[in-house]
Amino acid sequence: MKAQILATTAAAALLGGCVTINTEEGDPLAELKEAQAYNPDIPAGTGYFAERSDLPLYAPDFTKISEDDYLPAYEQAMMIHKAEIEAIKNNPAAPNFENTIVAIEKAGSMLGRINTVFFALTGSNTTDRLDEINTEISPKLTEHYDSITLDPALFARVKAVYDNRAAMTMTVEDAKLLETTYDTMVHAGALLSDAEREQVKAINSQLSTLTTEFSQAARAAMSDQPVIFDTREELAGLSDNDIKSAADLATEKGFDGKYAIALQNTTQQPLLPSMENRAAREKLFMASYHRADGTTDVDTRMLIAKIAKLRADKAALFGEADWASYAMWDRMAEKPKTALDFMEQMVPALAATQRREAALLTAAIAADGGDYEVKPWDWYRYANRIKAEQFDLDEDAVMEYFVLDKVLEDGVFYMAEKLYGLTFQKRTDLPVYHPDVTTYTVFDRDGRELGIFYFDPFQRPSKRGGAWMSNFVEQSHLYGTKPVIYNVLNIPKAPAGEVQLVSFDWVNTTFHEFGHALHGFFADQRYESLSGTATARDFVEYPSQVHEMWATWPSVLSNYAKHYETGETIPDEMIEKIEAAAKFNQGYDFGEVVEAALLDMKWSALSPAEAAAIDTPEKVDAFERRSLEELGLEIDLVPPRYRSTYFSHIFSSPAGYSAGYYSYLWTEMLDRDSRKWFIENGGLTRENGDHYRATVLSRGGTMDYFQMFQNFAGRAPDVTPMLEARGLVAGDEAADSEVSDGKLPGSAVN
Ligand SMILES: [Zn+2]
Repeated sequence: MKAQILATTAAAALLGGCVTINTEEGDPLAELKEAQAYNPDIPAGTGYFAERSDLPLYAPDFTKISEDDYLPAYEQAMMIHKAEIEAIKNNPAAPNFENTIVAIEKAGSMLGRINTVFFALTGSNTTDRLDEINTEISPKLTEHYDSITLDPALFARVKAVYDNRAAMTMTVEDAKLLETTYDTMVHAGALLSDAEREQVKAINSQLSTLTTEFSQAARAAMSDQPVIFDTREELAGLSDNDIKSAADLATEKGFDGKYAIALQNTTQQPLLPSMENRAAREKLFMASYHRADGTTDVDTRMLIAKIAKLRADKAALFGEADWASYAMWDRMAEKPKTALDFMEQMVPALAATQRREAALLTAAIAADGGDYEVKPWDWYRYANRIKAEQFDLDEDAVMEYFVLDKVLEDGVFYMAEKLYGLTFQKRTDLPVYHPDVTTYTVFDRDGRELGIFYFDPFQRPSKRGGAWMSNFVEQSHLYGTKPVIYNVLNIPKAPAGEVQLVSFDWVNTTFHEFGHALHGFFADQRYESLSGTATARDFVEYPSQVHEMWATWPSVLSNYAKHYETGETIPDEMIEKIEAAAKFNQGYDFGEVVEAALLDMKWSALSPAEAAAIDTPEKVDAFERRSLEELGLEIDLVPPRYRSTYFSHIFSSPAGYSAGYYSYLWTEMLDRDSRKWFIENGGLTRENGDHYRATVLSRGGTMDYFQMFQNFAGRAPDVTPMLEARGLVAGDEAADSEVSDGKLPGSAVN
């Protein structure tokens, strides 16, 4: 999605407006006169990016863009953006909403156009040259946007408008733009004294150094320290290919004749389930678990202590009690306590499930002739075995019902037609950046053109992993622009001449990414910086996740999931198996994520004094242990997905996902509760779709997110449907817990 693509700074999203200046429509006469009297000298740009493209809806014209254009275009666009900001600062007229807040929104249009195309291509079709340019330009962009966000003269004008807001008549969206502009600058340090701002800069710089060190150390502990096994017997159960790779890696690392297994990012290791030798499993697991904690010569513990202390100190400069309170200013949950309470609600049911699953696995071990209790290094070996017996799911057979074209046109587009009245027409007139990309015109429920959709489904070496959505053109009433949106996936491409089949996971992802696209297509905002998916980190995944529900909705399934040879619709029992299997092993799968999210919040909730007291490696260990024990989960059976010493999401960049790892769980709660609403209200109907569009999908970042949810569902979000979907409310202990109190038992969600 957008935030990942334009990963410069929050300021980039705020200040990267997208259109030429001086096109404001009719305002009161006085302001017109003022504007006429003040004609700042803004240099004109040259080249492709100087103007909007000539193509329909300003879609990018890839035939006119060459790699050599980017650097000179960037230099020019940053210079123009600076001049636009100078013009705002030097305006002799008193600051007002139009000449300051809207002017900031509009500034940087050429820069915005370059970013949009450049970061789309570095993500999905990069080259060595584009990567080089990216390395060169990224720090310059950060510096450029920071220099604007922290410009005292610019802030003085913004503050003058903000302080006068009670006396102004504004639309809700105008008020939100004013508040966001002001808050973003304040969050960066605009309200601090010069001395405090210097302290913030010093902390930022130290955080940058320490988090880079953490990132390098965590990577070294993973890739430079593979686990060495002396004999082939220890690796019994692995495939010949895996064993050959292990032998090659050992040779490469100077252990000729031995075997080496490289660690993967998470605490659990993907080869563990196949390994028959229990001692070898334990050895591999323990190497992962003790990564970077001083067991070897890599030790990130003091880095963590210093990062936590600096973050707490920085928060204190802003008058906040802890880092989480500072970092969560623009989130839906907003307060650390809200996120913590939300997660702690899950603990009783989750702990009960962990214990139940552990007992099941120990029984499976006994049935296999083992006389020991299950440990983390045994867990997936036996869990996978039970899963295979119970659900007997043949993934290849499932794929035969999912032909890519049908998934998109008869599944995803069909869902969009039934829910929202959209129709689609393939087009062949638009240039694309790769021959595998297809384009469609999207027509709205009234038959009018809504936007353009680019679909880029296949894996290739020039594309980074994962799947995402972003805009080539943002919707904006200020400019009269309609959304031009792309979805990128990484589906393995079938050999030439064969039918393109996709796994059920990719089917789900196709619905998910199109959920993001709908959030973009239904945008109905005046300002680009509040348009469509420009929403909080703990909100943006919610609309996309909800749309996954339609992938298995019976009337949608029967329209697209047809066998590639026989044309027969996918059997119900196959879908039931997929859904039942998804509820299996949640004590571990879900438990390790909840534990990591809680661990993140504990580190982020330290006061400066508490952080200062964690001043030795042993105290880092003790803090982690205590934090996890307090949760009441089975942390020795199910350790967190990442331990602190290799929790790169939260320690490998100055802010990263710190105080934010909970977002994955939070949006899932909103998603599952919304599915329940759809089911209770008749499912796949135009009425429901129009209601969701009106209350959520069309609102962009213009409203309080709780209010948005309330407007949609008629109540506050509830965690129960999420726990039900994960099979976490069954069992005696869970039934007694507060989680299921007063809630409808056993309502299906899917
Ligand atoms: Zn997503």
